Amino acid sequence: MNKLQSQVLGYPRMGEKRQLKKALELYWKDSCGSSKDALVACAAEIKKTNWQAQKCAGLSYVTVNDFSYYDQVLDTSLLLNIIPDRFAGHKETGVFNSESYFSLLFAIARGSREDTCGCGSQKGTASEMTKWFDTNYHYIVPEFSAQSLAGAKLKPSKLLAELNEAQNSGVKAKPVVIGPVTYVRLGKSSLEKKLVFDKILPLYLELLQTLSSKVELVQFDEPIFALDLTDEEKEQLKQAYGAIAAEAKRVGIKIQVCNYFGSLGANFDLYSSLPVDVLHFDLVRGNEDVSRICKVKVPQVSLGLVNGRNIWINDLESSVKIAKKVVAELGADRVIIASSCSLLHSPVTLRHENKLEPWLKEWLAFAEEKLLEIEVIANAAGGSTEKDAQIKHNKEVLSKRASSERVHNRETKERLAGITPEMFDRKSPFVERIEIQREKLGYPLFPTTTIGSFPQTSEIRSLRVKLKAGELTAEQYDAALMEETKKCIAWQEDVGLDVLVHGEYERNDMVEYFGELLNGFAFTKNGWVQSYGSRCVKPPIIFGDVSRTSPMTVGWSSYAQGLTAKPMKGMLTGPITILQWSFVREDISRKDVSYQIALALRDEVVDLADAGLKAIQIDEPALREGLPLRSSEWNEYLDWSVKAFRLSASGISDDVQIHTHMCYCEFNDIIDSIAALDADVISIEASRSNMELLQAFVDFKYPNDVGPGIYDIHSPRVPEKDEMVALAEKACEVLNPAQIWINPDCGLKTRGWPEVKESLLNLVAVAKELRGKYQK
Ligand code: GLN
Ligand code: ZN
Repeated sequence: MNKLQSQVLGYPRMGEKRQLKKALELYWKDSCGSSKDALVACAAEIKKTNWQAQKCAGLSYVTVNDFSYYDQVLDTSLLLNIIPDRFAGHKETGVFNSESYFSLLFAIARGSREDTCGCGSQKGTASEMTKWFDTNYHYIVPEFSAQSLAGAKLKPSKLLAELNEAQNSGVKAKPVVIGPVTYVRLGKSSLEKKLVFDKILPLYLELLQTLSSKVELVQFDEPIFALDLTDEEKEQLKQAYGAIAAEAKRVGIKIQVCNYFGSLGANFDLYSSLPVDVLHFDLVRGNEDVSRICKVKVPQVSLGLVNGRNIWINDLESSVKIAKKVVAELGADRVIIASSCSLLHSPVTLRHENKLEPWLKEWLAFAEEKLLEIEVIANAAGGSTEKDAQIKHNKEVLSKRASSERVHNRETKERLAGITPEMFDRKSPFVERIEIQREKLGYPLFPTTTIGSFPQTSEIRSLRVKLKAGELTAEQYDAALMEETKKCIAWQEDVGLDVLVHGEYERNDMVEYFGELLNGFAFTKNGWVQSYGSRCVKPPIIFGDVSRTSPMTVGWSSYAQGLTAKPMKGMLTGPITILQWSFVREDISRKDVSYQIALALRDEVVDLADAGLKAIQIDEPALREGLPLRSSEWNEYLDWSVKAFRLSASGISDDVQIHTHMCYCEFNDIIDSIAALDADVISIEASRSNMELLQAFVDFKYPNDVGPGIYDIHSPRVPEKDEMVALAEKACEVLNPAQIWINPDCGLKTRGWPEVKESLLNLVAVAKELRGKYQK
């Protein structure tokens, strides 16, 4: 057979219609009821469908243990029985799919109140969650302590059960497990990491014994290779795969190690010297040097040619060319064609996208379509001509796209080329601007404001549903939202807030709202990607040059300003956040896409100012998450992302005040870039970390105004005035009181009115108290 071997590194697990989400949420609602059987059945169905899809496409192996009820890192913790101390009293983990297995799994993932259902769960807060490398997927952070390590032992019931399920359904299964060194790096530890590593490596060896005679190949994911490695980690990698390879040989299993999400860089030699059977190379994000891959000594290489993280069709001809080059050097038996990383980060299928324009649909490949692309490459690179017609068609589609008027907008390109250095700068420095702004906006010391959104009640959401269903006309919908906006503003006036917002009732989502109004964006119906647990996001697709046809927010903002004599903040989402939370075209640089968005926003900022808005907020919560994995690449990214923000914010005169907002990230290591944004005011999340995060601002002597959030909006709890005073006082100790704003952590969209009312009343009282103390 002249076809190369083929595989994916993992598959999406929510189901094509997000069935798992629904089954999980039902189970959580009436935990321990019959919904457990429904959840297990739903999972079984999804797994079977995924395996069949891979088998039918023709892949050599079908990946198992990539399914998860919540998160694959948490699954690894349960595999190794590393349980956070506060859940240690939990009954034995129990076998996969049992009541006690679920109660422990979800207790760690979501926190648990008292043992309400008798299945043994303990009281305790959820484990922390953080981003999986530079994706938008979030994993549950393992917790290593003397106690949790003492309990470590191999508990492979999930892996074995799924392997069994797969094999019973007649597929050739390849289990995937997160490798020991990546797993150790991802956890937080009260002990030296070396102790953790030493404890868990034997468990991995034991796992191989357990799998002996059951499988041919096991996949260990070690994306840690895409990061800067410490010497200790390098040692661990050598030691781990020395031991794993020896044990695997003894028990007759082949080992595959996978790096993905970035290039191997300086880790290339270490990686290629691992004594394993298959090494996977990410040729998309990693963009590895093919001639170096041709020289590796391992028995087989897996070429990650099909992008697991974006939704564009593959350039099949060029992939085949690369694969053929490697085949020419290594021989067909030594090459496997693969996805660049797990397809977990792709939506499932294009089959249900019947609303997408046909021309756009032709440009896209979701997980299911990617399987077929892998097969085409495996066939053609192996010398088969069977799929040549598909390669020819693909080439035609790509060339049509390259010259399509839908992609290229001459005006946008001209504006991009015409950007001049002054366009990145405000007219005068901050110290001069702020005086003019204070005067013009007329707010007191410790000005109070909010971050933008007010509660999106079920009434407001149902208005949107009715509009979509055609039960409300656009006029009726707008009239209802105007009524809500009016009430919201009157309420803010009553409470005594200084700088008001309109409430963002017209927005479903802070990126989608702008994407729908800008040219160059498209939206799918089911293009969902897992973010964490049962939560999915549906990123917009940026397929072409971005431009703005008409103002996007001026109507709402000027209506709002017209209702009050107090200053109203216009509210925009920044260029980097729009970029970061979308699927982005790859024919031009991310920098250029962000500048295009910035130019459209710049026009919006100017229009808002012309309409009389004296303050405009440009939210950039995703600035930090765009950072490249390797610190050597940070500067370049930070340089253009800061410039994109400045480009959007600098088209106005000094008297208009630019605000920005960021939340839930470490600021320390990028504080100079935050300062370089030169926003007049930044509001940041700070209350959960007890203002610790302000230290970065202090050390840096951050010059502009800062609103460290004193009300944690991620909980329904109403903060007392005194506790907020204490937080604000902490800020006063280290910053100049004249620089400080008083505001919540983040938008209030997810909160209910009763708690918001009480909390903001307290918040305004805080400002009053501080004024009494600090006003000279
Ligand atoms: N202005 C947005 C809001 O208030 C900001 C959201 C965010 O920080 N993610 O909802
Ligand atoms: Zn926020």
